[in-house]
Amino acid sequence: MMRIAILLAGAMTVTGCLSEEKAFGKSAGYGRSYHSPVHVHIPQNAPSITQQFRKVEDNEHYGLDVHAPIGTPVIAAAGGEVIKSFWGPAYGNQIEILHPADSSGKTSRTRYVHLEKRIAEVGDQVARGTQIGTLGITGFLSSGFPHLHFETLYRGTSIIHSAEDPNLFWVNGEGKVTCFDQRRHADLSSENFVLTYPVPCK
Ligand SMILES: [Zn+2]
Repeated sequence: MMRIAILLAGAMTVTGCLSEEKAFGKSAGYGRSYHSPVHVHIPQNAPSITQQFRKVEDNEHYGLDVHAPIGTPVIAAAGGEVIKSFWGPAYGNQIEILHPADSSGKTSRTRYVHLEKRIAEVGDQVARGTQIGTLGITGFLSSGFPHLHFETLYRGTSIIHSAEDPNLFWVNGEGKVTCFDQRRHADLSSENFVLTYPVPCK
């Protein structure tokens, strides 16, 4: 319950629509309490990150919030198999993708929540960049603010997939938000777990 309350409080700090010049190319800070902030470089044509990952006691936020208008395509950040596609009260329409094991045998997942519509269904194999849904405001944790809450569940040294900062896994390197480009990214191998931005850049 504490987590829900804090997530709500966090979401409420961003209200209404961002003005056009803040809608792209801006990245929220990590806050002083976070022990391992990533220096984030976001391209000027990428929809803004309005809230960062936090893994601190009593103030967790296990993903990134990406702000864009309702109906914006949400695209797979890496290829894999859709293992969840359902609606729930807190997170609304949500999709989870299981990615192939990397060269060290570790698997990872990505999770996309508050979707307006789900396009991908359980069992679908999706390539990086495939549209899986549209960005929305579903689920009470969205607080009516249009955004994609995007999570990375990484199987590190343990059996359990634990939430990690998505900014650690961009194709171009740690902290370097990487817009999906069909020509450059469609054929990337899954030897390493790397991500492209889960919404298209303009
Ligand atoms: Zn969020």
